[in-house]
Amino acid sequence: MRIVLLGAPGSGKGTQGEKLVARFGIPKVSTGDALRAAVNEGTALGKRAKVAMDAGELVANEIVIGIVDERLQQPDARKGFILDGFPRNTAQAETLDGMLQRMGSGGITHALHLHVNDEEIVSRLLERAKIEGRADDKEDVIRNRIAVYNAETAPLIAYYKAQGVAHTVDGMGSLEEIFERLAAVLTA
Ligand code: ADP
Repeated sequence: MRIVLLGAPGSGKGTQGEKLVARFGIPKVSTGDALRAAVNEGTALGKRAKVAMDAGELVANEIVIGIVDERLQQPDARKGFILDGFPRNTAQAETLDGMLQRMGSGGITHALHLHVNDEEIVSRLLERAKIEGRADDKEDVIRNRIAVYNAETAPLIAYYKAQGVAHTVDGMGSLEEIFERLAAVLTA
């Protein structure tokens, strides 16, 4: 299985992705986690990424594409993978398709879209801000991240529909309920 997780910030991609790793035994690649690690390490790449991240804007395609390309070359990704936070725009999706073609591995098998309404998204992210203190979980930045998601990332649902691999799953409810909905799609 070569899975892409789609959904607004705070829709539960990270949490559900971890549960999918445990159930299906394939690695998860999170560009958000990788970028935050680079920011914390203070690398040159991290410094460039931080400016965009703090504003709720997308980091340059070349940076995130480099991260994903390197990670997908690792041997453990040969049996499949879960992408969380990538692709985030059409250019990234097309680059990913090209990468998979070059690796001779076949395309994305499932694009799982977690659907959660905007008000729930804002309240979840404000709650997370209190607990984790992420720099980009401030209300104005949250609103911008949602706007960027709607403008740039939501069109990928149609992109993967055209490939016949898109599935929208209700992202409201208990963690277990949502997980079983996702697992049902993957085992169908
Ligand atoms: P969330 O989905 O909760 O908004 P992430 O942890 O996935 O958060 O990403 C946090 C930030 O990292 C994004 O707002 C963006 O600035 C940057 N980022 C992550 N993935 C990408 C990507 N594929 N392309 C561009 N920027 C990205």
